[in-house]
Amino acid sequence: MSSTPMMFVTLRSPAALPTVEAALQGKGQWTRRLHGAAGQVAGLEIAPHSPPIGRDEILAIDGVADVLRPVSPHPRVDAQAGRTVSLGRAVLGEGCLLMAGPCSVETEAQIHAAAALVARSGARLLRGGAFKPRTSPYAFSGHGTPALQWMREAADAHGLGMVTEVLSEADVESVAAVADLLQIGSRNMQNFALLRAVGRTGRPVLLKRGMAARIEDWLLAGEHLLSAGAEAVIFCERGIQGFDPLTRNLLDLGAVALLKHALHQPVVVDPSHATGRRDLVLPLSRAAVAAGADGLLVEAHPEPSRARSDGPQALDEAGLAALAGGLGLAPVGETP
Ligand code: PEP
Ligand code: MN
Repeated sequence: MSSTPMMFVTLRSPAALPTVEAALQGKGQWTRRLHGAAGQVAGLEIAPHSPPIGRDEILAIDGVADVLRPVSPHPRVDAQAGRTVSLGRAVLGEGCLLMAGPCSVETEAQIHAAAALVARSGARLLRGGAFKPRTSPYAFSGHGTPALQWMREAADAHGLGMVTEVLSEADVESVAAVADLLQIGSRNMQNFALLRAVGRTGRPVLLKRGMAARIEDWLLAGEHLLSAGAEAVIFCERGIQGFDPLTRNLLDLGAVALLKHALHQPVVVDPSHATGRRDLVLPLSRAAVAAGADGLLVEAHPEPSRARSDGPQALDEAGLAALAGGLGLAPVGETP
């Protein structure tokens, strides 16, 4: 599926309306009549989900005066259409890319064990938080800078790339020094000072959707990153706030399909934070890939029952292997 941006077609005279309308509809376009202040037909709007059509093809229709396009508020995001993103040893946009690991980096031994099982599964990037945004100020909030180094060493030891969250402007430099992909968490999606600081690193960024953010706000947050210099923005849908606590969040697969099929953006899904339950991670991963996700960000832990954060949603080794196997992935160093 493809699409053209919304377009407005103006007419040489109101009498041209029926022929222009019929010609556009004959080309498969979805049109809507636009009326002026006095109620007269002023032109036609072409819906953005119409099949692709060139401006010149419309101008060639008898009775068409002009074709206008509104200026996009996120031109740099639009310019990402169809691109792939290089992430150290991996590439996003060439098949399904799996990024997996624990919610938090807890100890040096834990992140090495996690990296080992992540590499065995066929995932290509190790995820894990050194700086953790926690709803309660009394909850474990990560080991900070030392954990970044543990994670880099663990990723390198197993041939993996690394994605980790940047929580504050003060940490941008230390995270950029080790991570292949810098993560902006849901709670920080509209922290514009942080977005600018992360963008200035010139690195690829994983931008999680704010839990109450509209898609347009999410795209504009991406524009902040790109306009500040980010090399690429990968949009990550992780569920928005619904009203039912049984599934932690509400996974918006419509947004994923829109970003991939209509806007052609790099997009991944985090089914772990979307549901809060390990038993739902596999079905929602399948659904995410079917909706067009280029990859998945999944929580996995060597001993989920001992996890210091988000244990109930963490997969164990067998669970991650089953997920990766279903996606047709092979361990690092082997071809599928
Ligand atoms: C995370 O990925 O560790 C995380 C905190 O996720 P989110 O920002 O989506 O809540
Ligand atoms: Mn988590």
